Amino acid sequence: MTNQTKIEWTDFTVNFWEGCQKVGPGCDHCYAEARDVRFTGGSHWGPGAPRRKVKGGVAKLLKINRDAPTFHEAHGHWPRVFCSSLSDVFDNAVDRLWREEALLTVQIMVDTRIQLLTKRVGNVEKMVEGLWLGGWPQHVGLMITVVNQAEADRDIPKLLDLKARLGIPWVGLSMEPLLGPVDLTAIPDPSGLAHSHMDALRGKFWMPPEHVDWPTSSRAMDGRLNVNLCPWVDWVIVGGESGPNARPMHPDWVRSLRDQCAAAGTPFLFKQWGEWKPVSDMTEDEYRPLYRSNRKARDYERQEIIDDLYGETCTVPTLSLQLDGEHKDTLDIGAWGKGAMMAFKVGKKRAGRLLDGIEHNGFPGALT
Ligand code: SF4
Repeated sequence: MTNQTKIEWTDFTVNFWEGCQKVGPGCDHCYAEARDVRFTGGSHWGPGAPRRKVKGGVAKLLKINRDAPTFHEAHGHWPRVFCSSLSDVFDNAVDRLWREEALLTVQIMVDTRIQLLTKRVGNVEKMVEGLWLGGWPQHVGLMITVVNQAEADRDIPKLLDLKARLGIPWVGLSMEPLLGPVDLTAIPDPSGLAHSHMDALRGKFWMPPEHVDWPTSSRAMDGRLNVNLCPWVDWVIVGGESGPNARPMHPDWVRSLRDQCAAAGTPFLFKQWGEWKPVSDMTEDEYRPLYRSNRKARDYERQEIIDDLYGETCTVPTLSLQLDGEHKDTLDIGAWGKGAMMAFKVGKKRAGRLLDGIEHNGFPGALT
């Protein structure tokens, strides 16, 4: 049996090549690039850099597919396979023949559940055109990375349009590293219709009541006018950043996405906090030792304890996180904005993946 990965939302990773080019803020601290520097000389990233073919990629996927019945018996689901974790399948700079070999192999691995993840959703249609003659394979789902509201507004309409037109069975969002608050229920209507928004989790366009002069009976209970149906997002994964230069993630950004998904019935998976852990998700036993000088435990709210400890020296880096994504390397609480939260750089392992004490492991029906 092929070795499984520790990535929480998949069982196996398969790479057909390595190398890529940074295309957005989510790429700033690309772990695959750091790995390339460490193991293969670091010459496969950036414009014009040659990508490196992975010899065993196709063979690994064939083996996973061959062993799939045994895997299914042991785990109760077909093996989920993340292609490609060290590159982007829809990278313009990769050899066309490499991609075609990869996508044709993917097409026939029908006993696996393929998870294609890209930051280049605009390339997908032209790169599969004429390749999958029977249409989009029904064991293959498409995920895009979304790290902030600007990317959500730009790319989710494209993803949902592809889902409808190409018959993609399920689509998902990998919101890692999450770098700001995101409202998935109010994406500006890509058709440009004034005041119209897309609710990407429920598959609806809607208008706020103040902009529509229609009878109340036409409105949803919340007063919005639901205009028509569109495809919807089937899965949301959220995670913080890891690595030495990781950026922190505000817990309220994650909570908001958790709550949006719960309200819409969308499966939600919280992958990890990453390098930084907010104090709001620590127990007193966890955060007290982070300070050199402990004070006598008192019956305080956690934030009040932090206020109480104002000015003391921490044993690990700490910073405050603003709701708008800015942060300050300061313990001067007076400089913090509304909704600010303190976070500690405790490392990915120690930070864990509990959100308000709960592990979230939602998967869409197609992957269960
Ligand atoms: S798209 Fe992915 S693999 Fe490529 S640079 Fe960005 S994070 Fe790295």
